[in-house]
Amino acid sequence: MQLSLGLARSPLESVRDALLCEFGAQRPQARMDPISQLVKSSISGRTQDAVSWNAFLCLRAEFKCWEDLARAPVAAVARIIQDVTFPGDKARHLTTALKMIEAKVGWLSLSHLKTLEVDQARWELQALPGVGVKVAACVLNFSDLAMRSLVVDTHVDRVAKRIGLVGSGDATHTYHTLMSLSPDAWTADDLFELHWLMKRGLGQMLCPHEGPSCGACPVRQMCAKAGVGHSAEVLAWRPRPSTSSG
Ligand code: SF4
Repeated sequence: MQLSLGLARSPLESVRDALLCEFGAQRPQARMDPISQLVKSSISGRTQDAVSWNAFLCLRAEFKCWEDLARAPVAAVARIIQDVTFPGDKARHLTTALKMIEAKVGWLSLSHLKTLEVDQARWELQALPGVGVKVAACVLNFSDLAMRSLVVDTHVDRVAKRIGLVGSGDATHTYHTLMSLSPDAWTADDLFELHWLMKRGLGQMLCPHEGPSCGACPVRQMCAKAGVGHSAEVLAWRPRPSTSSG
């Protein structure tokens, strides 16, 4: 159940406020249509942003429309995206998912998801091959659907657990817990911003998998793992993160 205005302040609000003070606003600058976002997010898993963006742009250059991608041979698609992880699996899942959308909707579009409740839309996406809770949330939140769904990647999952916002469990558990801690008043843009604050601002700059810099961390006063098992060095330089679509 989501917190409502007037009830106790969510600990996630304090985390967001501290990260905002440190890293500044992270508002979306451009949103793709949901099919393009599905293509991008489906090839991005366990792959650096620069590599997945390059693969996405190669797909765009090769096919004049996504309908052509849906009908392309899997091996040809895998060759185009060969630099991402698991290109064969991703090519097979993606082409199958696009064909399934065409068969269900009648044409290649996901714009009808905007009329559904977020969880209903998420489940419809997660019924597609290769689409888990993270890719589904990317399509719902990053695309021009602009729906209230927080993208929980490995960085968001890790820092949420270290801070103590979330107990042990998989990314789906983290997603539901963080969504339940998100006030109703937070918009899709707010959740977009929270993702980038937790991922790039905190997760990649200050609290990576190894060697967190707790002494420089803006949420150290509220973090369950502050200074536990790692150095508390203070970073003199803290760059401002930039945003992109995952
Ligand atoms: S205080 Fe340390 S462990 Fe906690 S979120 Fe910050 S960097 Fe990570």
